[in-house]
Amino acid sequence: MRYLWMDDYLLEKRGVTKDLQPVWNWIRYKIGEKMFAAICLDSDGKPYYINLKLRPEEGDFLRHQYPDILPGYYSDKVHWNSVRPDGQVPDELLKEMLDESYALVLGSMSKKQQRAALGISCCGTECKTCPFYGGQCAGCNESGGKVFHAPAGKACPIYACSVQKRRYVSCAGCSALPCEIWKSVRDPAMSEQQFEASIHERMKKLGRK
Ligand code: SF4
Ligand code: SF4
Repeated sequence: MRYLWMDDYLLEKRGVTKDLQPVWNWIRYKIGEKMFAAICLDSDGKPYYINLKLRPEEGDFLRHQYPDILPGYYSDKVHWNSVRPDGQVPDELLKEMLDESYALVLGSMSKKQQRAALGISCCGTECKTCPFYGGQCAGCNESGGKVFHAPAGKACPIYACSVQKRRYVSCAGCSALPCEIWKSVRDPAMSEQQFEASIHERMKKLGRK
């Protein structure tokens, strides 16, 4: 296997977990419960294929360009592709293919499932790191934004705008970020400096600078 970076590369992606499917002997990389890539191992634990998903036209194009890209082994051959792990597919191309596979599988989920799989709220908060999570607060994704600090019976203004009104997965793609709503939703115990740092950190978690 020449792509020794692959495991680290995939596990660095947000929400990705891996397991071993013991019957097939595949290392599966999953977002939520859905597999988006796999390393197929032989009985000696040696990789013989890397399976990943591509748009059908792209998969078809690449299969004609590279003899080491084949229709998906033991998979739906329209959407899935198998790459020989010791072949001639360039590293950068394989990274792009894996990125595409991740994006396709994530994009096939409902927005609610995406937020749950990514383990992050629409404002970049990771509720599981909060001491109130699971006790006083059910969590943003789980409660539909109706967390303990939201207006009574209503969703938090960020959740209401991003998820309910604009139907986004998160604020990540919004050109207004960080908007006035973000600036108005704050923990009163935070100093100005802490709040600025919190905005910066949450934007970073959403992939924005
Ligand atoms: S600030 Fe609003 S959107 Fe962000 S985690 Fe809390 S409730 Fe959810
Ligand atoms: S306007 Fe603000 S709260 Fe609404 S989606 Fe954009 S960044 Fe998020």
